[in-house]
This record gives sequence, C-alpha cells and structure tokens, in this order.
Amino acid sequence: MQKYLVVGHPIDHSLSPLIQGLFAEQCGLSDFVYETHDVEPGGFIEAMAVLRRDNSLQGLNVTLPFKMDAADYCDKITDRARAAGAVNTICIGAGYTLGDNTDGVGLERDIEKRGGIQLKGQRVLVIGAGGAARGVISHFKTLGCAKIDITNRTFERAVALAMDLGVTAVNMLDTASGGYDVIINATSASLSPGSVPAIPNGAFKDCKLAVDLVYGALPTAFMRLALDSGAESAQDGLGMLVEQAAESFRLWTGTMPETESVCHKVREMLTNH
Ligand code: NAP
Repeated sequence: MQKYLVVGHPIDHSLSPLIQGLFAEQCGLSDFVYETHDVEPGGFIEAMAVLRRDNSLQGLNVTLPFKMDAADYCDKITDRARAAGAVNTICIGAGYTLGDNTDGVGLERDIEKRGGIQLKGQRVLVIGAGGAARGVISHFKTLGCAKIDITNRTFERAVALAMDLGVTAVNMLDTASGGYDVIINATSASLSPGSVPAIPNGAFKDCKLAVDLVYGALPTAFMRLALDSGAESAQDGLGMLVEQAAESFRLWTGTMPETESVCHKVREMLTNH
C-alpha cells in the first residue's frame, strides 16, 4: 500500500481525497490510499512523529493552519517552498522529508489551461496579502510578468509583502484606471457570500481574466463584479485546487495526471451537493 494524507484543521470538508482518488484511478494505482487527518492547532510536530511510524506513509499534503509548521518540520525544502514561506506537499524518503509548495504552479497551469493565458509579459494585480498572495506572487515573479502589483484591505500588509517580495504595493482606489491583464482575488472575502474586496470597477477595464481563489457551486461575487465591470472572463479557484493537487501527485508518484476530466467531475460534484 502507498499511503498519503492531507493534514489540516478543520479537514472534513477537504476535496483532496476525491481529487487524488480520481488521479490514482486514472493512473491505475490500485494500492494508492489517500485520507484526511485532523490535527489540533499547535499539534503538527507531535502528530508527524506518530504518523511517521507508519512505514506505508509516502507523503502528505498540508493545509491551514500548518503550512508554515510544515516548512519548519521538513529536513529540506525546495526553493519555491522557501520563497512562498510555506509547504503544502511533503515527500517522505528513507529517513528524510522534502517539503515543496505546489500552489503557485497550480495557479499558473490553471490560468494557462482554463484561462488561455501565458503569464509571461502580462500585467498582474493580486488582491490580498496573506499566505495565498505570498505563494502566488513568489511563483509569478519567476514567470517574467510585465508587472506585479499588490493591493489589500489593510494597506500596510500589502506594503510589507511587496517590500519582502520586490513588487509594488498600490492603494486599492489607485487601481481605478485599470492597466491589468490578469486580476487575482487572493483574499478570503468570497468565503462570506456576496462579499468582495473594495476594488473599483475601473480596475477591470483592461482585464482579460479575473480569478477568484475561492471556489463553490456558483460563480463568486468577485467573479460577477469582474464580469459586470468589463473583464473578458472570470474563473474560480477550483482549477487551481486540482492543478496544485496534480503537481503533488506527480511529486509522489512520478506521473503527471490529466486534470481536465477531474475538474469536470469535481465541479459536477460541487454543483449537485
Ligand atoms: P489569509 O492568510 O487569512 O489572508 C486573508 C486575506 O484576505 C488578507 O489579505 C485579508 O485582508 C483578506 N480579506 C479577508 N476578508 C476580507 C474582506 N471581507 N474584504 C477584503 N479583504 C479581505 O488567507 P490565505 O491563506 O491567504 O487564503 C486566501 C484565500 O485563498 C482563502 O479563501 C483560501 O481558501 C484561498 N485559497 C485557495 C486555494 C486554491 O487552491 N483554490 C489555495 C490557497 C488559498 P487583511 O490583511 O486586510 O485582513
């Protein structure tokens, strides 16, 4: 048996077992087992000590609130995990752990495949200054974007993150003249139905694609705002979720799964529940 876990709190709602199960089925891995494992906040290191006693455990996904704990825990982390300041994928080798972060590349591939946009040369605005924004910007910086601006409800946090990552912080109201090809909502505003960051409508006037990292059965309020304000297209974070999971699967098994059919199945499941 090859065993994998997703560790987080809360974790019951996670779509990762469904997604990883579909990848394993597609690749004919009949001994691939992937389960959720709930850990109380503050208990990550102790939980890992217990979990590592199971020799069939080959790897883990790590989600909120343990992504930074996981970066501290791993024996070695990749450059992209170091830049993101967080680990969401752990590979277990003979007596060692390697931590990686697949969120940024997951969003890049989603934008490429479902949005039809190569990020090289694009003008990007990221809204939000939390962990997701950091992961996205640190990866996008490696892709040759024409510019990356960051804005946030609490402007000081945008300034601090921009200084840390070497991008530009802009006040939300100062985005009103547009000039962005891709606008990413990396805030958690959409978790409250109908809630959107206070971004002016004008910000979307040159926008080819708006992406909300939050996903659900229906288009989010941010996606509706973007389309109503002139964005050519808008998508939610389900594609990113599937793509970052595919990259984890590739790191563990050496096989890159096909993602489009999995996106469709997960979307169908969300819509019917
Ligand atoms: P976080 O570290 O808690 O940061 C939250 C961010 O959202 C902060 O910038 C915060 O602004 C902002 N915010 C919260 N409520 C807001 C509101 N009502 N109006 C405007 N701004 C608001 O969270 P995170 O880890 O970065 O995650 C952000 C979102 O991305 C989450 O919803 C998460 O589910 C999603 N995500 C999706 C994927 C995927 O695969 N699709 C992957 C990673 C994350 P302040 O600084 O002003 O508080």
